[in-house]
Amino acid sequence: MNRKEHLKGAHRIVVKVGTSSITRGGPSASSEFMDTIARQVKDLKDKGTEVLIVTSGAIGIGLAVMDARARSREIPVRQAAASIGQSALMQKWNESFQRHGIATAQILLTYDFYSDREKYLNLRNAIQTILEFGAVPIFNENDAICVKEIDAVFGDNDTLSAMVSIKMDADLLIILSDVHGLYDKDPKLFGDAKLIPEVTDITDRIREQAGDTAGRLGTGGMRTKIRAAEICHEAGCSVIIAGSDVDDVIERIIDGEEIGTIFITDKRESRKSSWIRYAHASGSIEVDEGAKKALLKHVSLLAVGIKDTKGRFDRGDVVNITCGGAVIAKGIPDYNSDDISKIKGLHSDRMFEVLGHKNYDNVIRSENIVIM
Ligand code: GLU
Repeated sequence: MNRKEHLKGAHRIVVKVGTSSITRGGPSASSEFMDTIARQVKDLKDKGTEVLIVTSGAIGIGLAVMDARARSREIPVRQAAASIGQSALMQKWNESFQRHGIATAQILLTYDFYSDREKYLNLRNAIQTILEFGAVPIFNENDAICVKEIDAVFGDNDTLSAMVSIKMDADLLIILSDVHGLYDKDPKLFGDAKLIPEVTDITDRIREQAGDTAGRLGTGGMRTKIRAAEICHEAGCSVIIAGSDVDDVIERIIDGEEIGTIFITDKRESRKSSWIRYAHASGSIEVDEGAKKALLKHVSLLAVGIKDTKGRFDRGDVVNITCGGAVIAKGIPDYNSDDISKIKGLHSDRMFEVLGHKNYDNVIRSENIVIM
């Protein structure tokens, strides 16, 4: 696929910048680096491109302010650092954008923006309006209230940036980092490692090549970047991983220059399907082999094929559909978990008799099912 042609239509882009790029290895955010980003964003905006930024760096900067790097593994210390660092970080972003007469909007997200459809729709309206007013939305995870223990966590900003990209219908996600793209082997260990300029299919081989390297203060590595590319792939958003130290990197990428690795896609999963795919599952429905076969052919799920349910969920919640314990699909049932446990294994014509009411013959309609 021709990169230049493909990128021509990029109207809305998300730019993710990693901690080591923001700090340039130092203790605080590098104004010089942020200025270069702001200048490029300004130029793109002038040409009619909408830009959203996902920024890391809060924890790294906060730890330096608190002089607490030695305690960087303690969760409350990281939370405090995230809060202290975030305001320093936004101050710098503001300064950089103000030089170009552009306002910034801080948006701190937790994973539930993704699982709760109402929250998501509200947020979408807010972001849409921020963009209409010509401001630049700048996202980070709300690390002060997000710890792995409460399960509302993205964990790394690569994943967050992918979620923002697909939820906001971006055409392109640019991940800027201290690595210049995906290599056939670890470039830090092998001098002859070769950059892979284009990936059209994310195979196991690609995942292997990504290895498992992460920066000291950021949490991402190549693996989370590949995961981000996978999330975007289904939704039809291409991803470019490139070095943040390349001059005018964003503008040159948009001009179609061969920089970094592009994960190119022309798929387009519906918004609803991608929401189901990545929403938090409230429970699960275990199905038999027959139902599994039907599901893989995109047929609706009937009560007769259901063996069991796990967890309590309402109709309209997202659930995992499992077979032999393995998640094969996700879907939105038209019945709650109590009802399903009463009708499991039964033919549809007995549903009314058992429940005293009936929504649909199908427990989950095919349009509400996504195969995993
Ligand atoms: N949200 C974290 C921060 O601002 C960064 C997470 C990551 O490194 O991906 O420090």
